[in-house]
Amino acid sequence: MIEKIFNAGIVGAGGAGFPTHIKLNCNVKYLIVNGAECEPLLETDKFLMRTKSTEIIRAMDEVGRMIEAEKLIISLKSKYKNEIKHLENAIKELNSNVELFLLENFYPAGDEQILVYEITGKSVPEGGIPLDVNLVVSNVGTLVNIFEAINGNPVIEKYITLIGEINNPGILKVPIGISIKECIEAAGGSSLNDFSVIIGGPMMGRIVHKAEIENEFITKIMGSLILVPSDHYIVKRAQTPIKHIINQAKTACIQCSMCTELCPRYLIGHKLRPHRLMRSLGMSENEEEILKEALICCECGICELYVCPMGLSPRIVNKYIKEQLRNKKLRYQRDGNDITAKEIREYRKIPVSRLISRLNLKKYQHKNMEKALEVKASRVVINLRQHIGVSANPIVAIGDRVLRGQMIAKVSMEELGANIHSSIDGVVCKISDSVVIQRIDNEVIL
Ligand code: SF4
Ligand code: SF4
Repeated sequence: MIEKIFNAGIVGAGGAGFPTHIKLNCNVKYLIVNGAECEPLLETDKFLMRTKSTEIIRAMDEVGRMIEAEKLIISLKSKYKNEIKHLENAIKELNSNVELFLLENFYPAGDEQILVYEITGKSVPEGGIPLDVNLVVSNVGTLVNIFEAINGNPVIEKYITLIGEINNPGILKVPIGISIKECIEAAGGSSLNDFSVIIGGPMMGRIVHKAEIENEFITKIMGSLILVPSDHYIVKRAQTPIKHIINQAKTACIQCSMCTELCPRYLIGHKLRPHRLMRSLGMSENEEEILKEALICCECGICELYVCPMGLSPRIVNKYIKEQLRNKKLRYQRDGNDITAKEIREYRKIPVSRLISRLNLKKYQHKNMEKALEVKASRVVINLRQHIGVSANPIVAIGDRVLRGQMIAKVSMEELGANIHSSIDGVVCKISDSVVIQRIDNEVIL
């Protein structure tokens, strides 16, 4: 089964992109499948849980057997009534031991470490991974891909939530490597002249301007595109130069400590205190032990986009400090003390509805997107490194004809990386850090 997962080139579909054949090469007590749809507004995981519930439960049973897990849990929000119904039916039909764990609607419920705490009451140690507390967490999209891999099908398509200032918002089923521009055009384009696209969720996503969407291509780890006006609050915040952010941090932080008090990682007991990090910048303390706390920030954005009364960006400051420390090859070292979640944590969860209002995104909310619009591509640009780890090595040459599903780049099984497959029938026309494949019109490729 590990070999099938490896051959299919599966990586974490929830955004992290960790190669799945390495992650699942373990024996653990719990298999947790994450269907919480962490970021506000996104619909892809819900769509998969409604339309592919049998595939997800079947794959969970198989993976559970392989890793000898005692408990198989799929976790989603209690407000996802329809998805709960579909999953319960599938569990019954397949006579499966999978259990549902229902979460409240707060952000970031789908953060791996927050999810682990909610389900088990245990905190993953700072800088650690769920394996440290005897479990693995995978996204529902990854389980769908595992089901396909068991049947010999590689990862060549993605389901994408496309919402915001788009004429026909909905779920798209697209070949990997299609340009974001083509996805937007397939959904009727935008009525706005000037828009930007959030790739990912509004809290943690990357932002690209309309002028760049031709050169942005769908990868295995993308799940959503949100079109917003280019003068939207989220875009403006993301455009602030780092020098300005640092200067603001030095001069305007009032040390109210709200960023720490509401930080989800601090609340599960991690030694992460963004207000101390802000102070060390302002006071030029540069105390390495404090600065190292930045390394355990998950960049959820609560401190920056929701909490700070002064409009400062502790998250970006943390990111900046992280880069400096990594350049010096410094790592976070646990102090070995027990980790205890803060009692107040239960009362400090951020309701998603309030977050959406705060981010001025209310009008982009959609529910129960029923069907996926299938989009074809005449040209795909398939990145050779869509995952954590090394790039895959191309095994095709310019001019080669390839078939949809054919492997075009590979890694060895021991390497941290993933195989890559063609998502269309066509001819290889360029190879660099990606493979460009062009469909040949009116020609049947044998
Ligand atoms: S919330 Fe803002 S002002 Fe308050 S300590 Fe944090 S960064 Fe400073
Ligand atoms: S982004 Fe802010 S709130 Fe989120 S983990 Fe980092 S410090 Fe905590």
